Amino acid sequence: MTVMTRPLLNRRLAEFGTTIFAEMSALAVRTGSINLGQGFPDTDGPEEVREAAVRALRDGRGNQYPPGPGVPELRLAVAEHQLKRYGLSFDPDTEVLVTAGATEAIAATLLALLEPGDEVVALEPYYDSYAACIAMAGATRVPVTLRPHDGAYRLDLDELRAAVTDRTRLLLLNTPHNPTGTVLTREELTAIAELAVERDLLVVTDEVYEHLVFDGAAHVPIATLPGMRERTVTISSAGKTFSFTGWKVGWITAPPELTSAVRSAKQFLTYVSSGPFQYAIAEALRLPETYFDGLRADLGAKRDLLSDGLEQAGFTVYRPAGTYFVTTDIRPLGETDGFAFCRALPERCGVVAIPNAVFYDHREEGAPFVRFAFCKRADVLEEAVGRLRGLR
Ligand SMILES: *Cc1c(COP(=O)(O)O)cnc(C)c1O
Repeated sequence: MTVMTRPLLNRRLAEFGTTIFAEMSALAVRTGSINLGQGFPDTDGPEEVREAAVRALRDGRGNQYPPGPGVPELRLAVAEHQLKRYGLSFDPDTEVLVTAGATEAIAATLLALLEPGDEVVALEPYYDSYAACIAMAGATRVPVTLRPHDGAYRLDLDELRAAVTDRTRLLLLNTPHNPTGTVLTREELTAIAELAVERDLLVVTDEVYEHLVFDGAAHVPIATLPGMRERTVTISSAGKTFSFTGWKVGWITAPPELTSAVRSAKQFLTYVSSGPFQYAIAEALRLPETYFDGLRADLGAKRDLLSDGLEQAGFTVYRPAGTYFVTTDIRPLGETDGFAFCRALPERCGVVAIPNAVFYDHREEGAPFVRFAFCKRADVLEEAVGRLRGLR
């Protein structure tokens, strides 16, 4: 069997083993621990949205291949959402593309826009699929590391500028940022936009947590800034906003040439997906403001519940401005290795968390940081906090 003498997994993917989430979720099940590792809610989204999906299914809407770009109802709802919230006008026919979650949007965008040898500047720590998709496109990632200052993770704009070379094709952003909870400010985004214009770069921005910002902070889509609309692919998804992570309904908004390029790759990945759910998410995007306010208030309170509890347990806590994750520093507990800490935590106190090092190329930069998710029921978080108190 000579085919076996060469490693089966190709060189581009060899560095990516199975994700830490699989390992940690299995550990949670095996030890009966509370799983604050993977970021999925333990309560489903709004009843009326579930009913809308049932209706679509019963009425035979979306049970067969939906249109390649997505059903018109959803593309229109996405365009209306961008206009109403951000003043961004997109043509639902040529500037909106529905994808199988933000995950496929990221993959299709990077596979469409990158040539082998291109460089992608991305904010480290990064969401795990970015590195894998950049690698599948044959491109090179260039991390710019967010570091803690005065209680929050911040971007060093000089480092960002220095990371751009003649080979840089695009900047890959994520705000609100997973795992740090940082929300890039208008000032930071303006500086990034100026850099993109000056160096003629494309910008891909992952905004799946656009509705999860706290303390009155505002999410600013970089596409709203001068010179950006024409060079930006904005990615979002229904999973986090509506607590239906299993439905995998995502989308991009971008000018026609970029949308068309992304569609070229997307059509050979899934072609289409989530037919009836697309109709339901079209309705979800039009839910009254009370829904979005309620989501923010609920998760804001849970952020405080878990953050306070982690502080009492002895962690240094970077209270997030957005997302449903909180990053902590374990050094005050006398620990330095987040991997070892997270592997031992279920046995020590019955809680599962994720070592932030998995989101870094510079593993040592992420070593003492650990991420907890708070998109869980309040009683579950209270129980977790009680268990964590035993660590001291
Ligand atoms: C959850 C998540 C995604 C994936 O979104 P899906 O719609 O579930 O594919 C993408 N980016 C970030 C930063 C995420 O946290």
